[in-house]
Amino acid sequence: MSGIEVIAGRCTTVFEGSRDREQHGDALVVVKPDGTVLVHDARGYQPLAWLTRAEAVTVDRDTITARDGDQSLRVTVEEAYGRGRYPASDAGVPVGDCPDCDGTLVRARGDVSCPDCPVEYSLPTGATVLGETCADCDLPLFRVERGATFEVCLDADCESLDERVREAFDREWCCPACGGDLRVLRRGGLLLGCERYPDCETGFSFPAGRHVDDCRCGLPVFETATGQRCLDRECGDEPSTEEPPDAGV
Ligand SMILES: [Zn+2]
Ligand SMILES: [Zn+2]
Ligand SMILES: [Zn+2]
Ligand SMILES: [Zn+2]
Repeated sequence: MSGIEVIAGRCTTVFEGSRDREQHGDALVVVKPDGTVLVHDARGYQPLAWLTRAEAVTVDRDTITARDGDQSLRVTVEEAYGRGRYPASDAGVPVGDCPDCDGTLVRARGDVSCPDCPVEYSLPTGATVLGETCADCDLPLFRVERGATFEVCLDADCESLDERVREAFDREWCCPACGGDLRVLRRGGLLLGCERYPDCETGFSFPAGRHVDDCRCGLPVFETATGQRCLDRECGDEPSTEEPPDAGV
């Protein structure tokens, strides 16, 4: 089912579940494409009855039925004052103009998309979309931390984050298992992986943070949203600067 179905009318709502309830009055029924059904009356922001992302929803002329596990919601419309089905999209924070149409790009759920055309750009984890635009294609830039802070065009075909990270950190550190160089690679996510793969399978996902220090194990330490950590999550060593001065060696 695509679009949002909206029905305003005199309704009887029967909810069966944790506690059964029947309500009657003039209400607005909203059926979302994800199976969420909301029934609103005259007051407040809270629906008088609802079922979120129901497994099964049927919309007939006079009845809307939603079922999810042992819960069900049935709305009988005795008299419809108005009804219709309208387009629905993910609404998000506006971040700039669409390059392909007159629409406005919005950021929702980690992606930037246009509600008016199929344009879509995926954002890396932790990215912030900026007000500045790309000098080459006019799309918004985003800022993200991968070892350093990078400001990159939304369109990976215009400017590649991977390329920027590679220029900065490829072969920068050594594999703790075999001494080979750690390469900046993409296998699903961005990695620092040993150049001797598949003979050496050492690899670490690239942290969303800035390189601020080096660990006693030889690997870099990153400042992330949750604090400082070694590239190797399993490494228990502290950053070298936090080594006590009187550490007897
Ligand atoms: Zn567009
Ligand atoms: Zn660009
Ligand atoms: Zn290695
Ligand atoms: Zn370490």
